[in-house]
Amino acid sequence: MKMFCAGQWQDTKETINVTNSFDQSIIDTVPKGSGEDIANAVSVLEQGARIMKAMTPYDRSLILQKAADLLLKRQDEFARTISLEVGKVLAESQVETNRSAEVIRLSGEEARRMTGEMIPLEGNAGGKNKVGFTLRVPCGVVAAITPFNFPLNLVCHKVGPAIAAGNAILIKPASDTPLSALKLTEILREAGLPPEAIACVTGPGGEIGRAICTDTRIRKISFTGSYEVGTKICEMAGMKRVTMELGSNSPVVIMDDADLEKATTAITMAGYANAGQVCISAQRILTSSAVKSDFVDLLKSKVEDLTTGNQLEDTTKIGPMVRESDAARVEEWVNEAVSQGARLVCGGQRQGAIYAPTILDETKPDMLVVKDEIFGPAIALSYFDDVNEAIAMANDTTYGLSAGIFTQDIDRAMKFARQVDSGNIHINWSSQWRADAMPYGGLKHSGTGKEGPKYAIQEMSEEKMVVMHLA
Ligand code: NAD
Repeated sequence: MKMFCAGQWQDTKETINVTNSFDQSIIDTVPKGSGEDIANAVSVLEQGARIMKAMTPYDRSLILQKAADLLLKRQDEFARTISLEVGKVLAESQVETNRSAEVIRLSGEEARRMTGEMIPLEGNAGGKNKVGFTLRVPCGVVAAITPFNFPLNLVCHKVGPAIAAGNAILIKPASDTPLSALKLTEILREAGLPPEAIACVTGPGGEIGRAICTDTRIRKISFTGSYEVGTKICEMAGMKRVTMELGSNSPVVIMDDADLEKATTAITMAGYANAGQVCISAQRILTSSAVKSDFVDLLKSKVEDLTTGNQLEDTTKIGPMVRESDAARVEEWVNEAVSQGARLVCGGQRQGAIYAPTILDETKPDMLVVKDEIFGPAIALSYFDDVNEAIAMANDTTYGLSAGIFTQDIDRAMKFARQVDSGNIHINWSSQWRADAMPYGGLKHSGTGKEGPKYAIQEMSEEKMVVMHLA
């Protein structure tokens, strides 16, 4: 595919292969964009920002509603593209495509509800005969830098709100998975978004990322990806506004009164969906010692039923990881844990980019599979004796994106919700659940700012104060 840059579809001399990690076949090629391409794109996007600002929110909402309809018309094509470039099974890619259309639609709805607020100035000393209100205005040119694991939905979570708020948008998709974002750009153009108001530039994160971060004409960067890259972006971004949606090693707590059937079903999904490559995957499973053996036996029987293989086959539940090198890294971390005393309950084998769904028992806080983000199909079990210990273990991490607790006791559940430092808390579900409309974001090293169209629109617009000085 070509990239969309400076108002047109373009090629470059050098290209990047997009491959299917299941069999290493080449799916397509995309341009290897450069810092110069970013500079050219931003010059045109500045014109686009003026065009977008002049449009009414109603007009912007119509573009987004049309784009959502067009996306659903091409649902099968998008799902197949996602599965091929990520390695995700088709059923999950269908869900991602549906959710993406919903995010675009919600953004269109929120565009029509964008509003400021009345400020009661007469309640202030010296405020007599003053009337004040705020206006929400677009930032201008907004850049979206996105990860590989949800190559369509996480782009929509940035592009939808950016357009709704009246900005021009520059997309830098993940280098391994750029095809869904390029196809989304086609759809937005077809829905009536002016060519000046969008660019999708493919290429290596380092060079393109630096060009984006250091271009002072870009007013806002919305990034989803790893803590390491997020930190680099913040260091380079200067006075730009930033939203950072970063990683995690999410805890799920199983109390002694938990519904073990429900908990093990939820963890079997949350530990292994998209081969564990989900930012809110359940990674650290903290269980009451009182239910240890029942819990492990039930979980093992469910995880062993997960069939691995070609992501395009209906019987496959877990496809390959995005790159073979990632599967090799997971293998290394699991082997390290076993060499330090963890017990391998199931899994532990690798075939190319496919890593078997793995459970490690008796893990310790200093093992990589516990203290870092594994981002692969392996979960780490450990044990506690009471809720206070469970909360301390859940908080024993630099991350804070999502956490879950299974218990029948509302007091223990609320204590957990209040005391665990995490942007999302789930009671009687695992860490892995998200409705696209809800406020979503992390604490600590998991990031700063919120997504969900209503909240992202706030982050992608500026607030101006207007004061009328009456006679
Ligand atoms: P990554 O950080 O490696 O890459 C993310 C994006 O940054 C890519 O587009 C990449 O090309 C670009 N990039 C790389 N180097 C850059 C640089 N120096 N400057 C600017 N941009 C640069 O992440 P990934 O491997 O694609 O995705 C996995 C990570 O994303 C995990 O840590 C996961 O938890 C996180 N994630 C978080 C959320 C969330 O909502 N919090 C959602 C999905 C994924």
